[in-house]
Amino acid sequence: MSMSTSLSNPMGAWRAGMPATARFPVLPRPNLDWTPEVEAATAHLYERIAKVMPPVEWPFHAPYVKAINELKRARNAVILAHNYQTPEIYHCVADYVGDSLQLAKLAAASPADVIVQGGVHFMAETSKILSPEKTVLIPDAEAGCSLAASITGADVRALRREYPGVPIVAYVNTSAEVKAEVDICCTSSNALKIVESLGSDRVIMVPDRFLAQSMAAQTKVKIIAWHGACEVHERFTAEEIQSYRADHPGVKIIAHPECPREVVEISDFAGSTAAMIDYVRTKRPARVLLVTECSMADNVAAETTGTEFVRPCNFCPHMKRITLPRIFDSLLYMREEVVVDPLLAERARASVQRMIDVG
Ligand code: SF4
Repeated sequence: MSMSTSLSNPMGAWRAGMPATARFPVLPRPNLDWTPEVEAATAHLYERIAKVMPPVEWPFHAPYVKAINELKRARNAVILAHNYQTPEIYHCVADYVGDSLQLAKLAAASPADVIVQGGVHFMAETSKILSPEKTVLIPDAEAGCSLAASITGADVRALRREYPGVPIVAYVNTSAEVKAEVDICCTSSNALKIVESLGSDRVIMVPDRFLAQSMAAQTKVKIIAWHGACEVHERFTAEEIQSYRADHPGVKIIAHPECPREVVEISDFAGSTAAMIDYVRTKRPARVLLVTECSMADNVAAETTGTEFVRPCNFCPHMKRITLPRIFDSLLYMREEVVVDPLLAERARASVQRMIDVG
């Protein structure tokens, strides 16, 4: 069954036009057998992930990889893969990789008609907000996010009533509905700059309380925090990180700002997924522990030599809903289409644009 999803339109006041399933032609279903031809056609792609995937697993992935890359051409589609996608997606079928905002901006600039989001729903909405004329698909509409789910547009309106005149900053890990209600967006890289650009002695930050605590420790601006958290990063503890340090002498510990404050404080570096990858590429530590979602270490390890990756493995169950078979179905059957009310998308886009304008 194909269906349109519109988490941003809970009132159902806006109706999508003709669905993607009707706008795009039906394509024949590609063969998914493991054959010598498939092996030869995908050998160069397996080389990219050979360090992190045993050869015995490749015959299960390769037919999908070949078929997906052919379907992309037939649909004039691009696949965006967040840094937390598994290596066979990230290295073998993705056209663009990165964090959610990087991906949305790259997709908007591409000439593709169709965007397939290898990531979670708020990311697909951000892509739709920045590419309203393109068809955006998410291979599993249930791929959510504990941060994005922690706050609604009604919650933001209630905050405005409670704190009149206090600017509200939303982390990009929010729904389009929330982005439309706030004053400006931020990422984990630019949050401090955004907070200090507002010229206010108080700022409300939603939804991540740990990112808000991190900002409060770095600025004189009084930060009023929402209570959301990433269910993956909040599980890391200072004790766990200390024990990794004791067991792996010389290890450089790099944490994502969505981790609890005490984890960030005992780390050697904290930054966005893009900043973490940049740290490994430029500093080339002999041993590193990335305190973030598990697949990112695999993706960086696949392309890095001379660095040992210590792996505390916390998977994001939402990111792992995106698989090669679901991407295959998404491109073949043009589902699940992500729809955002155009008026709401315009307001959400303005919050993102204000952030981009701050620089
Ligand atoms: S890793 Fe955390 S922030 Fe990212 S999608 Fe999963 S729950 Fe959301």
